[in-house]
Amino acid sequence: MDDGALRVDGNALAGELSEVFSHEMTVARVACGGCGAVEQLGADHAYIQAPGMVLRCSHCDHVLLVITRTRDRLRLSLAGSKWIDLSGTRGPRAHADDHR
Ligand SMILES: [Zn+2]
Repeated sequence: MDDGALRVDGNALAGELSEVFSHEMTVARVACGGCGAVEQLGADHAYIQAPGMVLRCSHCDHVLLVITRTRDRLRLSLAGSKWIDLSGTRGPRAHADDHR
């Protein structure tokens, strides 16, 4: 099947991604790519003394996400997570409602 008619470039995700990364993430639910446990991000174990920040599963110690920051780069890996659910988090639309 030729999917050329269905495909656009990644710029089409810009609006959704900018919303995703402005949510209050500590209450987002993260599914572990190792054991499948689902916890709020804030309930998992963070290691912040390394050159990068590492979030590990509170059940099996699997690496869920890694954030590294250098002078000119901020890099995020979510490779260890199956998914992150933002339901119940406070996003930019909720913050806009605060001013009403
Ligand atoms: Zn796990």
